[in-house]
Amino acid sequence: MNIYKRLLFIINPHAGIHRKDERLSEIILCFSDHGYETVVCFTREGGDATRLVEEHAYDDIELIVCMGGDGTLNEVITGCRKIKWNKAVGYIPAGSTNDFASSLGLSSDPVEAAANIMKGRARELDIGEFNGRTFVYTASCGMFTKVSYETPQKYKNVLGHFAYILEGIKELPSTQAMHMRILAEGNVYEDNYLFVTICNTFSLGGVMTLGRDQVMLDDGLFELLLISQPHDLIQLNNIINCLREHRYDSPNITFCRTDQATISCSKSPDWALDGEKGEGMVMNRFSVIPGGIRMIY
Ligand SMILES: [Mg+2]
Repeated sequence: MNIYKRLLFIINPHAGIHRKDERLSEIILCFSDHGYETVVCFTREGGDATRLVEEHAYDDIELIVCMGGDGTLNEVITGCRKIKWNKAVGYIPAGSTNDFASSLGLSSDPVEAAANIMKGRARELDIGEFNGRTFVYTASCGMFTKVSYETPQKYKNVLGHFAYILEGIKELPSTQAMHMRILAEGNVYEDNYLFVTICNTFSLGGVMTLGRDQVMLDDGLFELLLISQPHDLIQLNNIINCLREHRYDSPNITFCRTDQATISCSKSPDWALDGEKGEGMVMNRFSVIPGGIRMIY
């Protein structure tokens, strides 16, 4: 008699700063100790994790666990949405910057993170949709946005957060403010913006944090943070200080919560969805999918 439940384990072997091979057997043993037979799949290129969910999450799979960075999680959640998966998903963070993992308070030790999934409680969390694409915690545009997806993986692995900051500084002189008109919560915001993000997280790109008392991951709302182009060094300094202190009362900062937004741009700049490159258009639409994913942790 087969008493095992089945678990689909999707691994991105390229993400992350640690060699994970030697921990894999410990993780799978942990799953086995909790009554799971593990189906192991490795990703080879971008988009694979979505495809693996679509191809392997049969009815007899009770739980999907992914190991990789936030981009891998994004792909898995995208696959889950496609197949209308309503069981739980676990996440073992192994990327170089794990914004969402730190928002969830996941252990950076992969075996401990696996054990916490086994003992964990499933929670319904909000996710977002941007121009029809699923994202877990951030859709961003402007300064620092390109950093996450243009920094070569080998630098990300070796340097971690520092790679983002280095690349971000390199990007500053070429960053041009974008003229945008944003409709959210019945308000219209229009200005030249250096940085725009719609997010549901405490940490962004490893370089910026939002106050833990200001963000809830299951309130049906995402935070909208807009940074207008500063006109002098005093304004720039003010922006930096406000962001550091989690105050959003600067005249150059707009901060609000919304469950949907329409963003029109004069051009169609690149957006990053969970740190991966996303298509931006002249007219962009965002909406929240309340409780769109069941995460266990
Ligand atoms: Mg929220």
